[in-house]
Amino acid sequence: MIQVLNNKTAYKIEMVFVMTENINWFPKHMKDSEDLLKKSLKAVDIVFEVLDARAPLSSKDMNIDRIIGQKARIVILNKCDLSSNDGNKQWVSFFNRGDTEVVLVNAVNGDGLKNITNLARKVITKAGIKNKSIRAMVVGIPNVGKSTLINCLAGKKKAKASNKPGVTRFKQWIDTKSQLELLDTPGILRPREDKDTVLNLAFIGTINDDVLDVGTLASDLIEKLVEIVPEELCARFKIDINDKTPLEILENIAAKRGCILKGGSIDYMRVSGIVLSEFRKGKLGKITLEYPGC
Ligand code: GDP
Repeated sequence: MIQVLNNKTAYKIEMVFVMTENINWFPKHMKDSEDLLKKSLKAVDIVFEVLDARAPLSSKDMNIDRIIGQKARIVILNKCDLSSNDGNKQWVSFFNRGDTEVVLVNAVNGDGLKNITNLARKVITKAGIKNKSIRAMVVGIPNVGKSTLINCLAGKKKAKASNKPGVTRFKQWIDTKSQLELLDTPGILRPREDKDTVLNLAFIGTINDDVLDVGTLASDLIEKLVEIVPEELCARFKIDINDKTPLEILENIAAKRGCILKGGSIDYMRVSGIVLSEFRKGKLGKITLEYPGC
C-alpha cells in the first residue's frame, strides 16, 4: 500500500526517513572493513576504485580518499553500458585529474578492461614502482560490480558475484592471466545523509529492496525520470505523462502492464517491481542519474 502525502517534500523526507531507519549500517563491520583496507593497502601497488557510472559520486565511499591517501589509483566507472554517453564523458573528465587515470568499463562483457594491466603499469611506473607483477586492490561499495570485474579479469569465476547488495566477502588474492594480481575486499556501505544520494543508491539497487517501501521508491524513480529522461519513460511504457503525478504515471504503467488485482485494484508491488527492474536492467535506455557540478 503506497502512502502519499499531499506535500511532495514531506513525502520525500518521509521516504528517506523510512529508508535510513530500516537500513542496518553495521558500525562494527564498517570499522573492521576499514582496518582491513588500511592493512591491505601496504601489500598492494595500486588501487582500483570501482564506481557505478550511473551515479559515480553517490556510489563513491567518501572515506576512501582518506584511506587510500597518495597510493596510485585507477578509477573504474563500471556499468558504463547502463549510463548515458554524455554522462560517461563528463565523469571521465571530472575524475581524470592529476595522476588519476579513469576507465569506462562493462565488467559483464569486458569492454574497457583490455588495457587495464598496461594502464596500471603506466600509473605505478610514474609512482616509481617497477615490480614485474602488479598487485592491485579492488575497492568499492557493495553492488558496483567488483566481483564481476575480478572474474572478468581472471577469466573465470573466482570472486563471488551477486545481485544482492551487502554480501560481505573476506580478503582474497586472485591471479589473472596478465601480470596482475587482484586483492578482493569487502564492500562497505557507510551511512549517507544526503537524500538524493540515498535515493540514487536505492534506484541502482545498492540498498536492498527488502528494507524499502518499493511503491514509494518506484514513484520517486518515476519523478526523477520525468525530470531527466521523459521521452524514454513515455516510449518504454507507451504512456502519456503530461500533467500527471508520479503516482498517476505508476498507475498508468500498471494498467498497460496488466498489474491489476482481482477486484480491479492496482497491484502496486508488481508494477513497482517492474519499473525498478526495467530501469536497473537498462531497458529504459542508458541513463545517468547525476552529473558533475549538479
Ligand atoms: P560487488 O558487490 O561490487 O562485487 O558487485 P557484483 O560483482 O556482485 O555485481 C552486482 C550486479 O551488477 C550483478 O548482478 C552483476 O551482474 C551486475 N554487473 C556488474 N558489472 C556490470 C556491468 O558492467 N554492467 C551491467 N549491466 N551489470 C553489471
